[in-house]
Amino acid sequence: MIRTARARVPIFRGFVLLLMLSLAGSAALADGETAPARDPKQPVDDAYTAKIHKYTTQPFFTSPLVDYLPASKSVPTPEVVLGDVAGAPAVLPYAEDVYKYMRLLEGNSPRVKVFSIGKTEEGREMIAVAISSPENLKNLEANRARLAKLADPRTIRLDDEEADRIVAQAVPVYYITGTIHSPETGAPTALMELAYRLAVDESPYIREIRDGMITLITPVVEVDGRDRMVDIYRWHLSHPKDFYPPLIYWGKYVAHDNNRDAMGVTLKLTENVLNTYVFWKAQVLHDLHESVPYLYDNTAGDGPFNAWVDPILTDEWEMIGWRNVSDMTKFGMPGVFTHGVFDTWSPGYLMFIAAMHNGISRLYETFGNGGADTLERTLDPQDYARTWYKQNPPLPKVLWSQRDNNNYEQTGLLTSLHYFNENKRLFLKNFYLKAKRSVTKPGAEGPAAYVLPADDPRPGSQAELLRVLEKQAVEISRATAAFTVTLPVKKSAKPKKDGKDSKEKDAPAAPTTRNFPAGSYIVRMDQPYSRIADALLDYQYWSPDDPQKTPYDDTGWTFGELFGVEVTRVTDPKVLDVTMERVKEIHAPGGVSGDGTIYAINNNAEPSLATLRYKLHDASIEAAEEPFESGGKKFSRGSFLLRNVSRAELNTAISDLGFQAIPVSAMPSVKTHPVRAARIAFVHTWLSTQAEGWWRIALDNLGVPYDYISTQTVSKISDLNAKYDVILFPPVGFFSSPTAVINGLPSTWGNPLPWKNTPETPNLVGKNDSTDDMRPGLGWEGVGNLESFVAKGGVLLTATDTSRFALSIGLADGVSVGNAQKLKIVGSVVGARLVDSRSPIAYGYDEKLSVYCDNGPIFSLSSISGARGGRRLGGEMHTRPTGRGTMDDPDFTIGRPGVEVPEEPKAEMWENPLPTDEQLHNNFRVIPPANRARVIFRYADNKELLVSGLVEGGEEIAQHPAVVDVPTGSGHVVLFSINPVYRGETRGTYSLVLNAILNFDSLNAGRQLAEK
Ligand SMILES: [Zn+2]
Repeated sequence: MIRTARARVPIFRGFVLLLMLSLAGSAALADGETAPARDPKQPVDDAYTAKIHKYTTQPFFTSPLVDYLPASKSVPTPEVVLGDVAGAPAVLPYAEDVYKYMRLLEGNSPRVKVFSIGKTEEGREMIAVAISSPENLKNLEANRARLAKLADPRTIRLDDEEADRIVAQAVPVYYITGTIHSPETGAPTALMELAYRLAVDESPYIREIRDGMITLITPVVEVDGRDRMVDIYRWHLSHPKDFYPPLIYWGKYVAHDNNRDAMGVTLKLTENVLNTYVFWKAQVLHDLHESVPYLYDNTAGDGPFNAWVDPILTDEWEMIGWRNVSDMTKFGMPGVFTHGVFDTWSPGYLMFIAAMHNGISRLYETFGNGGADTLERTLDPQDYARTWYKQNPPLPKVLWSQRDNNNYEQTGLLTSLHYFNENKRLFLKNFYLKAKRSVTKPGAEGPAAYVLPADDPRPGSQAELLRVLEKQAVEISRATAAFTVTLPVKKSAKPKKDGKDSKEKDAPAAPTTRNFPAGSYIVRMDQPYSRIADALLDYQYWSPDDPQKTPYDDTGWTFGELFGVEVTRVTDPKVLDVTMERVKEIHAPGGVSGDGTIYAINNNAEPSLATLRYKLHDASIEAAEEPFESGGKKFSRGSFLLRNVSRAELNTAISDLGFQAIPVSAMPSVKTHPVRAARIAFVHTWLSTQAEGWWRIALDNLGVPYDYISTQTVSKISDLNAKYDVILFPPVGFFSSPTAVINGLPSTWGNPLPWKNTPETPNLVGKNDSTDDMRPGLGWEGVGNLESFVAKGGVLLTATDTSRFALSIGLADGVSVGNAQKLKIVGSVVGARLVDSRSPIAYGYDEKLSVYCDNGPIFSLSSISGARGGRRLGGEMHTRPTGRGTMDDPDFTIGRPGVEVPEEPKAEMWENPLPTDEQLHNNFRVIPPANRARVIFRYADNKELLVSGLVEGGEEIAQHPAVVDVPTGSGHVVLFSINPVYRGETRGTYSLVLNAILNFDSLNAGRQLAEK
């Protein structure tokens, strides 16, 4: 194959001479731009370079920046650890090997420093590698102090001239992160070689980067997933003719969604990268991904852009992105483009940490083969089509290697670094300006602050929300005295076309005031990181008319709503004058207020009630089935009554959960039932584990224990009731039709797909599950076992697609799923309304609840077995037949006395329609009232459905059941249309699941049955 032929100078010179010569070379350039070319005087590592050429499949898949490797006498190349060059076929290093190499660099070059930045959930290390001139690395602290002043303009009194002086001296930090997505495997070797180049190369182009800025690299973000991916790849190499198992687990909890955690910061990798980014005061966070050919800078994507980013940033995206395309186009590299379908609305992506902290977020998609095999790749027509933003598109069919991918990644990064360095004064000034505009926000666009009142009935959830902000480096204050603010006038909604509501809309609304008690939390917007707080706490609105018809991710996330916590957006600038103090650490103090033998804890649907139940194994806990009063205190339905627990033990258990335990002299007269620590099976499939991973992490964080079993295990346990009280079957996600759950992966051909530790796969199991063959699903045995579990009294809890599954196998008679025609709810926050406050599942909840919804499913009820429920259009559309009289009085037939038309039984969308007398006649299909579905929450009316995000065609799901408890046999199937446990963002709906768990053997409490 043809390779780029370049003159090599295999003569070694002394370092000083080399430095002088190359300096002279750079000065000789006339136009001030430094040529992206190697220093002809620096020796090349010939053997390494020859392999680079060998593994590059086309001469145009490389660039003058990476088609050689400079030689060094003292610094080892990646080959020392890899046994071959970066990007070589069949070479995929474990994170440990990557670190070993980075530390070799550190040991042999004064231009490299390695920092440990934290551990993963499975205890693996994460690192950040800083590469710069020895001088810059020596002055890290002084430089950090400079950058800190730009990052927090309050420290220099927002003085632009002072900022200019600092900008002139400061060395910027460009942070690169690799392989957060484990099957996207190229970044670690690309970054190893990039680190070597930045440390060793004496070409003016590279030297300018090294001397002018600090490149910070986290070569492996998802370390647990990387090690599993390398395992899989090694298994593939030793079984070359077999299919290899799909990477079902990446991190301990989630897969692809590890790049959707930058709002909730639930995962360690997010927290570690966020802390590193904020600690270094970096200007850029550039995250490397692999999917589309050959290099897609998706930062400058399509609209809508996130509404909380500074327009200065969106311009920076375009500047850097298009310059990047231009540079690589000039190298003759095809398939480099920016723009495209990505919409930049959600701030959940890892790179968005920078966008939300006054930096620059960047993301590359390069072309990867999901391993280190060299493969012939054929593209879809839309991928090789030429468009306005892709003038030099990829080729329809190519031989593609990991080296090609590494060439693109490194070339893109090096041209970015160089361009950034050339314009660093501009970007540093922008960094300052964005921070300054964050600080001056209250006087500009506002708001002035967000207030979380001290008397929120859910102090534990409030503390959890504040802890998210704390992780996001947001400053939180607390009012030392009560205060009052003026709330803005609410603009009246548009008058309805039919003029029905016009009267009440006529009265102009007056500004209102609001009092907040002392101790209320104030999130000031005159702080450098006000942007992220504003983005998380504000409301989102995505118009159904937006030209963007395919939102890339969630459209709404308002954290106060999803946490079930009160958050008030305050525009009144007086709130900033309230006397307040900074909160160093968030606590939700709780405690026991006196001695007693019985203690009562009010139930406000705080998830930590479950923590308490499992923590106090020996205590006996009862739930009150009705509200009661004791000692002048009001307790809601579901409140805990604890016995057999010492005051000291209880005090310790609740001290940071925000609960007040109040001694009561006697058990209240209301009915109670025991709250037992249910034995939980948590079921996953071998199809996908991501959606359930968010449930797992929530239960783990709450200290709720469970057995983690697969559908295959369910099929092998004939008596599930002997081991479990509750089976949680959280959403599956991708490929999750009911038949897929039952059948699993295709197994009539191919080979077994093991997911277990073997010599080639030592890291696969981690703390998750294992199997000899991932392919079998639940099977009909498993279906039978689940049926028998529920029939014998077990509680099966399902959500979204597993609810569909439960309904499709007939586990919940009287509930059907409708097909959406126009409904479009793309990861939005929607309104739900309480229907049955007596159900234990509703304990602690208010009438209104905000929930996370992603298009349903749409449940409908029927009282007739096997019938499909739904809107009964007939009765409502035709109130009377054609005949005499008006709409309201009866027709009559000539020559016969008039008869009254019997009234049709009327039912709301969320109610079981009562069977008619005709239907009841000898009808074994009529479901007895005690067996009918019990709706706990329904979706709000259409006009109140949208809380945050996008709702289109909402009438299809409005008012339909959202959470349903279906008595089946002696047990229950609890069906969720919403996803109550999602991305660490929906704490407000966790208790719907936890209540079902805690009250598993009393779910019929408070049930009122229909008459017929
Ligand atoms: Zn990715």
